[in-house]
Amino acid sequence: MTITVNNRDYRIPARPVVAICVDGSEPAYIEEAVAAGVMPWTERIVGGAGADLRVNCVIPSFTNPNNLSIVTGASPAVHGICGNYFYDRVSEREVMMTAPELLRAPTLFEAFQKNGLRIGIVTAKDKLRGLLGAGLAFGDTGSVCFSAEHADQATLEENGIDRVTERLNRPLPSVYSADLSEFVFAAGVMLMETLALDVLYLSTTDYIQHKHPPGSDGANAFYAMMDNYWAQLEAFGALVALTADHGMNAKHNDAGDPDVIYLQDIIDEWDLGGQNGDGTARVVLTITDPYVVHHGALGSFCTIYLSDGADADDIAGRLRDLDGILTVYGNAEGCKEFELPPERMGDLIVISEKHKVLGSSVEHHDLSGLDVPLRSHGGVTEQRVPLILNRPTPDLDPGRRLRNFDAFDLGLNFAR
Ligand code: ZN
Ligand code: ZN
Repeated sequence: MTITVNNRDYRIPARPVVAICVDGSEPAYIEEAVAAGVMPWTERIVGGAGADLRVNCVIPSFTNPNNLSIVTGASPAVHGICGNYFYDRVSEREVMMTAPELLRAPTLFEAFQKNGLRIGIVTAKDKLRGLLGAGLAFGDTGSVCFSAEHADQATLEENGIDRVTERLNRPLPSVYSADLSEFVFAAGVMLMETLALDVLYLSTTDYIQHKHPPGSDGANAFYAMMDNYWAQLEAFGALVALTADHGMNAKHNDAGDPDVIYLQDIIDEWDLGGQNGDGTARVVLTITDPYVVHHGALGSFCTIYLSDGADADDIAGRLRDLDGILTVYGNAEGCKEFELPPERMGDLIVISEKHKVLGSSVEHHDLSGLDVPLRSHGGVTEQRVPLILNRPTPDLDPGRRLRNFDAFDLGLNFAR
C-alpha cells in the first residue's frame, strides 16, 4: 500500500522507520570519525551492510528549509520555508518562519498519521517543533512531538507526552550544548521502547559542528555518542535513514577572525546614480534565529530587498565585483535555480565563497560569543551531505540526482 504526498508516492512502512537529520554534518565528520575507529555501527553500515550516499541539500543551506524539505519530500518552492526569516514587504517586518501557518505543504507525518501510523518527532531546538508537528493530532493518539530545549514544558495535549525529563531521568540540557543532541537520541530510544512508534524523526543541533572541525577530538566524541544511539535504534528492527540539513566550513581568516563581508555597510556607502545609497537596500540574513551565539548570525547566504526605483542590475554587478562574493542572482533566476518561493525572497540573492560569510552592518553582529574561530554554512559550498541507510538499495539508479529530501523515498521505497 502506498500514499501520495506532495506528488510523490511512498510505501506505508512495514517496519519502524527512524529518520535522523544530523545538523551541520559535513560528510567529513562521519568519514573522519569512522576512520578513527570511533563509530563501529556506522563503519559496518558504510562498509557494505547499508547504503552510503552523498547528496545535495537545499539552498540556502540552513536548518529550517532543509528539515522541512526532508519531512515533506519537496523543495522550499513547494513548502514555503526558505530560511529562518523572511522580510514581509507589506508589514515591513522581518518575520521568523517558525509558525506552522507559514508551511504550505503537508508533511509525510501528517499523511502517515491519517493512515493510522504512530509518529514520534524530537527536535533539539524548539524553533522547528511547530513546523515539524504541523497537522498532527496529539493527546492520546500515540503520536508525540517535542523539543529537547523545552522538554520540561511538554504536555499530553500539545505534545502527546508529558514529564519527559522524569521519564528519561535526565536534566533539561542547555540550548548551547552537545547534551541537547544527546537528549534527542535518548528520547528517541525511550519513545521506541514505550510507544511502539511506526515513524520516528530526530533532528539535532549543530552546536558541535560550529565549533569543532571534522576529525577533532570534540567532533569525534560527538559522533561516537551518536553511533551508539544509532545502533540502539536499529535494534528495534528499524530502517534507519541518516542525512544532514547542510554541511559546515571554516569561515575565518589566518588570524582566526571571522572573514565577513558587511554588505549593508558596503552598499550604504555606494553612490548609486546620484541618490544616497543609504536606504536603497535592506540586507536580510536569513540564518538569523534566536540562537546566534555560536555563529553571530553570520552565514554564506543573504537576500537583499531594494527600494522602488533602485537599479537591481547595477547593484548586482557591483556586488559581483566584490572580493569573496561567489554568485549574485536576481529574484526570478535565483528562485528558479534553488527552487525557492519568490514572494518570500528579496530582489537579489547573494552567496559568498567557501571561507567567507555575509554580514549586514558591523554594529548588528554580536561576535562576543564566538570563543573559537567561526565555522558556518548557508552557501553552495555547504550543500554536500551524507545520506546513509542501514539497508542496501540495490534497485536505485546510480545516475539519479539525489537530495537530502529523498531520504524517506529511499528509506521507504528502495531500502531492502
Ligand atoms: Zn542546521
Ligand atoms: Zn548552524
